[in-house]
Amino acid sequence: MPLYFDHAATTPVCPEAAQAAMEVMTGQFGNPSSLYPLGKAAAQRRDADRAIIAQALGCLPEELFFTSCGTESNNWAIRAALDLNRRVGKHIITTAIEHSAVLEPAKLLAAQGFEVTYLKPDKTGRIDPADLAAALRPDTALVSMMLVNNELGTVLPVREAARAIREAGSAALLHVDAVQGFLKVPFTPKDLGCDFLSLSAHKIRAPKGIGALYIRRELHKKVKPLMLGGGQERGFRPGTEATAQIAAFAASVAAWKPGTADAIRAVRDYAADTLSAIDGVEVITRGEAPHILPISLPDFSGQSVVEALGSQGVCVSSGSACHRGKPSHVFAAMPLPPKVRLGAVRISFGPDSTTAEVDELAALLTQICQSKSLLFKR
Ligand code: PLP
Repeated sequence: MPLYFDHAATTPVCPEAAQAAMEVMTGQFGNPSSLYPLGKAAAQRRDADRAIIAQALGCLPEELFFTSCGTESNNWAIRAALDLNRRVGKHIITTAIEHSAVLEPAKLLAAQGFEVTYLKPDKTGRIDPADLAAALRPDTALVSMMLVNNELGTVLPVREAARAIREAGSAALLHVDAVQGFLKVPFTPKDLGCDFLSLSAHKIRAPKGIGALYIRRELHKKVKPLMLGGGQERGFRPGTEATAQIAAFAASVAAWKPGTADAIRAVRDYAADTLSAIDGVEVITRGEAPHILPISLPDFSGQSVVEALGSQGVCVSSGSACHRGKPSHVFAAMPLPPKVRLGAVRISFGPDSTTAEVDELAALLTQICQSKSLLFKR
């Protein structure tokens, strides 16, 4: 088995989720729209699964709509919010460190005549809520801010953003990409004060291909679907429901025991202390979320470190953290020395991560730092 330190990219499916998917695929496999008992049983199971996820999120089941992934949820929320607020104006506020599932729609919207303000992080990856308050304008239709950054693990000031919107009397709707935050940091959509919130199941030990969008109940009368088709998800998200993935999503949520985030944090903190003690390794920031640790080996390219570790069976990410010799948009947006940006590597942890695994990683990183091999050097 490889040493897997890339839980922010995706996670292994937990046995409970795999079993739930198997049950639905082979037993309760009916189409939830079918009117005979097999179909009705599938619809009941889907609704029970939705209730489990809604309870963990702290919303009403009818506020949660299943989608195919976090990317779809983000795209839908952005489109729906701008459509709802089309008379408010064409100004969008987001941050320079969002996932591309927000930044790419923002880029397209800018090309279509919207004006986009990108809030910048400081050198620890944190966004100043005062910048958000200052950026709000009478024509701001949407604020889209992630809860936990996927490369840094920092928590963004979503609650403060909601407060600033309220205090300014702004009509802006607030969308939160909570893909990296769900189950990792405590929140409910209500306490964040948001209108839309995106989830993705494969970050919490369910399979890929299933996500959800929370839409505040009061908006339901006016929200438009992203796609047109049958009447599934009350007409909001047509397409035959992915019942097996939904069952797995709910099972992974139910299997996430209280204390799991603290256990992950303990391993992450051990890693931060152990790896920062290596000559040639820097911890870029220690975020509030428990599972992500961005480090840098400033004498190397992050990509070469990822490949060197990969050849030893260790999975870490430069993923979006360093792409073809360029720093990721997240590190590029931070006021960091260029060598730190280019040497960035993301390590991320899950419920099964151990300090013994961290020790193995530390030994390999020490070897790389001591290596004079030009293969690994920039
Ligand atoms: N948003 C964030 C913060 C993410 O980390 C990811 C996945 O990496 C996504 C959105 C996209 O989710 P999905 O892979 O389900 O489309």
